[in-house]
Amino acid sequence: NALAMQAVECLNKLLMQLGLHDDTLLSNWVGGELTAGQGQPIELLDPVTGLALTQYRDAGSDLVSRAVEEATRGQQVWMSLTASERGRRMTAAAWALRGHEETLAQLESVVAGKPIRDCRGEVDKVREMFEYYAGWCDKQHGEVIPVPTSHLNYVHHLPYGVVGQITPWNAPMFTCAWQIAPAIAAGNGVVLKPSEMTPFSSVVIAMLLEQSGLPKGLINIVNGVGPTTGAALTGHRGVSKLVFVGSPESGRRIAQAGAERLVPSVLELGGKSANIVFADARLEDAVAGAQAAIFAAAGQSCVAGSRLLVQREVFEEVCRRLARAAGEIKVGLPSDEVTQMGPLQNARQYRHVTSMIEEAQRDGARLLCGGKRPEGLPVEAEGYFLAPTVLADVGEEMTIAQEEVFGPVVVVMPFDTEEQAVGLANATRFGLAGAVWTQDPARAHRVAARLRAGTVWINSYKAINVMSPFGGFDDSGFGRSSGIEGLKEYTVAQSVWVETADSASVAMGYGSGV
Ligand code: NAD
Repeated sequence: NALAMQAVECLNKLLMQLGLHDDTLLSNWVGGELTAGQGQPIELLDPVTGLALTQYRDAGSDLVSRAVEEATRGQQVWMSLTASERGRRMTAAAWALRGHEETLAQLESVVAGKPIRDCRGEVDKVREMFEYYAGWCDKQHGEVIPVPTSHLNYVHHLPYGVVGQITPWNAPMFTCAWQIAPAIAAGNGVVLKPSEMTPFSSVVIAMLLEQSGLPKGLINIVNGVGPTTGAALTGHRGVSKLVFVGSPESGRRIAQAGAERLVPSVLELGGKSANIVFADARLEDAVAGAQAAIFAAAGQSCVAGSRLLVQREVFEEVCRRLARAAGEIKVGLPSDEVTQMGPLQNARQYRHVTSMIEEAQRDGARLLCGGKRPEGLPVEAEGYFLAPTVLADVGEEMTIAQEEVFGPVVVVMPFDTEEQAVGLANATRFGLAGAVWTQDPARAHRVAARLRAGTVWINSYKAINVMSPFGGFDDSGFGRSSGIEGLKEYTVAQSVWVETADSASVAMGYGSGV
């Protein structure tokens, strides 16, 4: 298969250029060095052809322990610098990828199967996140509390020490920078485990960041699967906070591992976001929004607008227009500049998505478009491609209306009243995002406030920025990332009491016990 051979050659060339290829694959960044894993081989398949791409070794628990030790040392060096110096170095780090942007974008495109244009956008986000959090380094300060005793009481915010971060395969570079930037701006050392499906880009980012002037060992990347390398990280005594981006099922395990050691966690999990279109909306905009909401990244986005709720008067019209818009999306090879939608990332995801479509059809859903391999692909592209899929006649109780598909599949459901729209939108176990399309501003804000979702868009979709908090309710997780909220997740308050009377007021006696 010529396409598969091309992918292997391209990947090897990129890994060589970036210094990750030796006799073995150096798939970890620990203590300022590229290091090979020591555990079981992990095979990566090419999303385009489904054929072998490369192999690397699981990091294993010894390497995780070394990474935690290195992060502990790196964090101490980091905190010995002044806050202004940390800010200066993070600003320099923001530009660390300069000159490597295209290599990184191509690397991610080959491994993750994402369109090259999307990967370039993701590389840009890395800079944005470091720039933003660099500015916070010297602007974090404490407060003085007006306590009613003869004390000066001040509160300041300390880093946890070493934080453990675990990220998914759908946005590896984004999620890596998203969590590393606030963690180090708050003064922590980091050990991050990317998804075993997309191991390399985080290693390259960490390497370039450190080489831009961050202390050796401040950022460590360990690659491997959840039950071995992941569990070694979440269970390590030297890790004081866990931050997880991924599925609710794994999120529960991470929070349990944290609870076992009484270590707090932040969970950024999946979604089943409702995109609500009222009859008075500008339909052209709403349909374009719905198209991007679900089909960008082939629906492999936590905020994917996977439930389109449409007021009955315009229901059939919106279905018709969306099916047409879905058919116009350019599905193709990730390396092709015009491709808007590539394959799904892996075989497990492909099986999951296609079996959910089949189940929905068995349950009575009507397929308006998609549901099969897209037309016009090269014959060798036998991988995980699926055409943009729209399903109608979906009942609220059906699995396809309740569970995350994480693929290019949207269900369109009708409603009559505002009350029904809100009820339907809130009727899943998730609470990540949602949108309202209407020209009535009062209704827009009223509905937004009633949606149990961490992010709501009005006449828009997908806009996010590192300045603005992001996170979920319920099975979409807890804690917040981005903005000042995201920074605060990486610090813990310390209250300091200083006696200001001539003699100490502390004494045995009634009222002083807690
Ligand atoms: P996943 O839960 O299968 O894996 C995520 C990460 O967890 C991987 O690195 C995996 O190796 C690790 N992991 C799994 N079990 C573990 C264990 N027992 N201990 C330690 N680590 C373990 O998720 P995925 O399939 O990679 O990603 C898709 C999911 O991520 C979707 O549900 C999507 O919505 C979600 N997601 C959420 C956000 C957000 O910000 N809310 C962003 C992107 C993706």
